[in-house]
Amino acid sequence: MTKTGLVWFRNDLRIHDQISLVKAAKENDFVMGIYCFDPRQYEKDRFGFVKTANYRAQFLIETVNALQQELSEYNIPLFVHIGNPEEIIPEYVKIHTITSVYLQKEWTSEEVNVFENVKNAVSNTVDWIETYDQFLYHPEDIPYEIAKIPQVFTGFRKKCEKYASIRELETISKMPKKNRVEQLTKVPTLQDLGLPDFEKDTRSAFPFKGGEKAGLERLKQYSWDTKKLSYYKKTRNGLVGTDYSSKFSAWLANGSLSPRMIYHEIQKYESQIVKNQSTYWMIFELIWRDFFKYISLKYRNDIFKLEGILHKQYDWNSDPKLIQQWIDGETAEPFVNANMLELKRTGWMSNRGRQNVASYFARTLQLDWRIGAAYFESVLLDYDVHSNYGNWMYVSGVGNDPRNRTFNVKLQAERYDTNKKFQNLWLQTSLF
Ligand code: FAD
Repeated sequence: MTKTGLVWFRNDLRIHDQISLVKAAKENDFVMGIYCFDPRQYEKDRFGFVKTANYRAQFLIETVNALQQELSEYNIPLFVHIGNPEEIIPEYVKIHTITSVYLQKEWTSEEVNVFENVKNAVSNTVDWIETYDQFLYHPEDIPYEIAKIPQVFTGFRKKCEKYASIRELETISKMPKKNRVEQLTKVPTLQDLGLPDFEKDTRSAFPFKGGEKAGLERLKQYSWDTKKLSYYKKTRNGLVGTDYSSKFSAWLANGSLSPRMIYHEIQKYESQIVKNQSTYWMIFELIWRDFFKYISLKYRNDIFKLEGILHKQYDWNSDPKLIQQWIDGETAEPFVNANMLELKRTGWMSNRGRQNVASYFARTLQLDWRIGAAYFESVLLDYDVHSNYGNWMYVSGVGNDPRNRTFNVKLQAERYDTNKKFQNLWLQTSLF
């Protein structure tokens, strides 16, 4: 019997180190890919924010375009549609007599619901092959059962560093020419998704393009070409420019860059250029990224609840005027305003900025943190469900911060924006 595998791409939009793709190519006579722009992801959420606003949507469009081209070099067609996966995928399964569907394993409720609906809508007998492919440390390799993931990051990191290793990269080989099929589907535009076009702000700290080639190029540029990686620990709290931090997050979030790829590249860099605190710190931060994924794997939907994983009750409010002022950069704190304007105009904000604006929102103004998180979800270029909700809970006192702090925004501005370069960049010109 002819075996035909369908790779259902979601947040694993790459060819390098892509386990579903590698498995599908090994196990089948024919392989094809599919990506669905799910219209529900472009509608308004319960707080009135478009779930995926134009910055991230544009980055995604660029990513899927790049993926389609790259797959075609491997003789693999990528079909792209706007529509609900539960309506589109069963059609493909039927028409192309698909025998197995390969996909990255997700566990957050929206993704799980859609997957269940797809499975229910498929009448053929199909093998569903799900693989965790978003982690640095694979869930089978960590020295913990998921139920016993610790509450505090340091313990988790130390034990993983000591007992777990990071897997080697997987590579796919080219499919034979007969695998090519004519495919006439096109990647949508922002307009097709019902979103407005925009001009890129010249002040953006993230002037990069979507797509795995661009992500790999950024990795090369940040490490081998400019050697900025060697200084990461000293610059990572910066606020202005492209190079104070790696900016890998947007590619990591939609899976166009593999965290294992970054890790192995750093290993090479350490053996050929320099091994120092900065090169280590980049891996340390990637472990934070894993940690939030493990926290959400352990606590599931609790990460979306007001009382968080700690089940803590606070006196939250949801004053629409305060929320709007925060979004528009019109609060009493210039440092918060500068960061919020950067986010609104570019879809980007530094880690230092995110910590401050989130702390100001949830702790100083005592606004329902889920509304701030939903706004981030809408606008951020690099939105990732685990990192976003994990960090918001952390800052808001319902997550993994053992110190339960409130940021002193004025002191933070003095320390990290001493000469007001960042504030001037966003506040002075915002008048025009
Ligand atoms: P670098 O400093 O160069 O770090 C390298 C990589 O390490 C990042 O790309 C990221 O994958 C990981 N990393 C670094 N810091 C963190 C962190 N605190 N938590 C998890 N991973 C980390 N990150 C997202 O990717 N998506 C989000 O939706 C997101 N929402 C956030 C919301 C709040 C309130 C806060 C405080 C932080 C959030 N972060 C999020 C984490 C962090 O701010 C970004 O990952 C980082 O700023 C991205 O820039 P970079 O790639 O240049 O990071």
